[in-house]
Amino acid sequence: MIDHAAFERILNDDPSMITPQDFIRIETIEFLSRYKIVKVGMLFQKGRQTIKGQPHAPPVLFQWEMRCTSCKQVSVMRTAKTRLLSYIADLHAGDRASYCQACDQIMDQQKEQRWRHESELRLAAVQPNTDRFIESYLDPLKVWSKDTEWRQAFRNMEGHWMFRCDQGQIAARVAEMEYGEFLQTPYWKCLSREVRRLAHYKCRLCNGNGELHVHHNSYQNLGRELKSMRDLICLCADCHETFHAERRVTSVR
Ligand SMILES: [Zn+2]
Ligand SMILES: [Zn+2]
Ligand SMILES: [Zn+2]
Repeated sequence: MIDHAAFERILNDDPSMITPQDFIRIETIEFLSRYKIVKVGMLFQKGRQTIKGQPHAPPVLFQWEMRCTSCKQVSVMRTAKTRLLSYIADLHAGDRASYCQACDQIMDQQKEQRWRHESELRLAAVQPNTDRFIESYLDPLKVWSKDTEWRQAFRNMEGHWMFRCDQGQIAARVAEMEYGEFLQTPYWKCLSREVRRLAHYKCRLCNGNGELHVHHNSYQNLGRELKSMRDLICLCADCHETFHAERRVTSVR
């Protein structure tokens, strides 16, 4: 039978054979996938021209069938031409997978399970290090030798925390401490000494070098200060007092 409509399209200078009115079966798609996508694309009717003043014209949708790489079931899709063409290009390439919704969901669940399992393993592996960190640095009663080289102590602590600990557990531990206890911990001693060293033992506000305090600009990262040292600032006792008195000073460089 002669397809007069196809003649008409060609005569109207639009060679597109496949229109949004067609239902494109998987057999057709698998046939088309033998050809390069630039050629296949030409068979499709052009997408709707953008109308001036109406830039968000709804996309033209094609109805087509997809075969799931995993379960081989065919499902019906309704998408813009680009999605269909990229499916055909994938089939042409031959080494890419497309999954139906059900298989997609199953794989997502498996991926999540794997991820959860891996993170459990990871946490279990770092637990002894985490325990050791808590024991070494979060015990307010721990007394360190007077000869402690604090710069080195800070570096050790930082390395320990960065690479081999469950940081969430440490932050939770800090959060449940009394603030006064927290200030007695080797953790805070290492941190505050480092903050003072970085400030060249001067107040960041007035450059004074009297009695120096280390102030928390924000408690948002309490127990995770190593990640955001900017939350800590070195202030002299006077400025610290003023700072707390006038709460308006919010940012200090
Ligand atoms: Zn499937
Ligand atoms: Zn000051
Ligand atoms: Zn303060």
